[in-house]
Amino acid sequence: MEQAGVRIASAAMLDFCGQTMQIASPDDDAAALRAGLDAHLAPTDGLVCTEEPILPRVFISDMDSTMIGQECIDELADFAGLKDRIAAITERAMLGELDFEQALRERVGLLAGLSTDAIDECLATRIRPMPGAKVLVDTLKKLGCRTVLVTGGFHHFADPVAAQLGFEHVVGNRLEVADGRLTGGLVGAIVDSSVKKATLLAEIAAVGEGATSLATGDGANDIPMLEAATYGIAYHAKPKARAAANGWIDRGDLTSVLRLLGIPEKDWVR
Ligand SMILES: [Mg+2]
Repeated sequence: MEQAGVRIASAAMLDFCGQTMQIASPDDDAAALRAGLDAHLAPTDGLVCTEEPILPRVFISDMDSTMIGQECIDELADFAGLKDRIAAITERAMLGELDFEQALRERVGLLAGLSTDAIDECLATRIRPMPGAKVLVDTLKKLGCRTVLVTGGFHHFADPVAAQLGFEHVVGNRLEVADGRLTGGLVGAIVDSSVKKATLLAEIAAVGEGATSLATGDGANDIPMLEAATYGIAYHAKPKARAAANGWIDRGDLTSVLRLLGIPEKDWVR
């Protein structure tokens, strides 16, 4: 890990209270390194890599519980008096215990008849950016990185969230609306884990094959995207997503991503 671009051994970049440090595996065993960190130092923020991290050209992120602190559909369900019921399904879907599309269609179906005014009120009163989200997006964008928000949630929420945080492109699901009310259906094909990964690969191809990429997410439907990115960072994530990613943030906020990538605070956009 001493020279950029030169493979030395598996090492973990760690963010400890704002200071970045490296711990190398003496026998080049990334799995043993992670197990040791989890056993003795948890909670940590880390990124296992075999070369000094470099600035990504593509940044793709999940929205719910990653870029915002909420699950939109659970908050929206509260306006229909169904929060407990719908949140229980969301939790199981994000843990990877349910088929994503089936679980999504079931929850959206339960919201049939809800006024779109509830979406606007939900956005205004419930949905808040995750700490560090805007600094992360603005900084990466300033440094020349393409920024994309990809969500299994809905454009009704993702478009204003993306505008607020500075994402350049949004991929999400569309709630069907008729006469100012949700029909309980969705428009078009579903954004699931395979679409998230395909979006990442298309963005990489647009920048140039082999471009360095960063993905952040927290749920089971983020796993293929996290695995396909150069740096896949699981943010306060469900266990399956955390295990699949080469990076994890268990204690800090989203600015830890910048520290793990070695981007100094003087370059951050605040
Ligand atoms: Mg999520």
